[in-house]
Amino acid sequence: RAKQQGRNSVNLYNHSMGEKNRQRLTVETSLRRAIGKNQLVLHYQPQVSVHSGKIIGMEALVRWNHPEQGLLLPTSFIPQAEETGLILDLGEWVLETAAAQNKAWQDAGYPPVKISVNYSQRQLRQQDFVEKLLKSLKQTGLEARWLELEIREAVMAEGIMDNLQALAALRDVGVRIAIDNFGAGYSCLKQLGDFPLDALKIDLSFVSQISSSEVKKAIAGTVASLAKGLHLSVIAQGVETKEQMQLLCSLGYGEMQGNYFSNPLPAEEAGLLLSRENDWSGPLWQLSQK
Ligand code: C2E
Ligand code: MG
Ligand code: MG
Repeated sequence: RAKQQGRNSVNLYNHSMGEKNRQRLTVETSLRRAIGKNQLVLHYQPQVSVHSGKIIGMEALVRWNHPEQGLLLPTSFIPQAEETGLILDLGEWVLETAAAQNKAWQDAGYPPVKISVNYSQRQLRQQDFVEKLLKSLKQTGLEARWLELEIREAVMAEGIMDNLQALAALRDVGVRIAIDNFGAGYSCLKQLGDFPLDALKIDLSFVSQISSSEVKKAIAGTVASLAKGLHLSVIAQGVETKEQMQLLCSLGYGEMQGNYFSNPLPAEEAGLLLSRENDWSGPLWQLSQK
């Protein structure tokens, strides 16, 4: 009986592995095609300074305009892109598109903001990633100081020397480096002091529970103090309510991003927000009136 069960589970295993491989292959093929066929789009989510009420940055977030399935969110294809290595081509496209868009906004005369681009570990591990990035900047004409790379804290924990030197080289030319989803994974406090870094983006999970959990609130406050002590910027992401915004303000957060301010928007709408920067009349404005 045990033998039979064993055999069944082996079959099951084989079957699901085959299925998984098959799925991966189709995703890989169609994602590869998507990159070539311009089916990827970037949406942009404003990052705001709550004190000035101004937009200070835009985070580029990739979407896949799938011919049959409609607009797909990155969580449904980024993992496959990372597994297959397609993230390298995808990432290059994202960087160039985002940099070119930011330059276009600046050329249109809008107040300059930084553009934040998510970078995966695999991209950082490429031997020539610094040269590639600098080439993209040169091609688009965007100055390095208007670009920020968002990387996950796991990169810090890995402590790969090449990464550190490469990141330091980028920082030397003015590119900003931010740790994304800080506190969600393997926070390596030991590395934090040595890491070439400009900003911490506290993880959404702390923000979403800030009103209901004293623990999350305490951690959010500690992250803000930590950033201050290390002379880093700190930004809260995933802010959805006025209450969250006010609590975060009281904990020392001056920069925020989230649906309370704006959803991620197609380039044209994001540009419209930038062009109206000077007569911004959203919830931020109400705050700075108080
Ligand atoms: P992330 O970098 O942490 O991006 C923030 C995510 O939070 C975005 O999800 C954004 O739409 C969402 N968000 C923004 N405001 C709110 C809010 O108020 N409440 C809630 N609940 N969520 C909010 P999105 O666009 O689905 O992206 C998911 C993740 O996919 C990103 O997380 C990032 O890790 C990854 N990603 C997106 N674009 C790229 C890319 O070009 N390259 C790479 N390597 N990864 C990317
Ligand atoms: Mg991000
Ligand atoms: Mg994040």
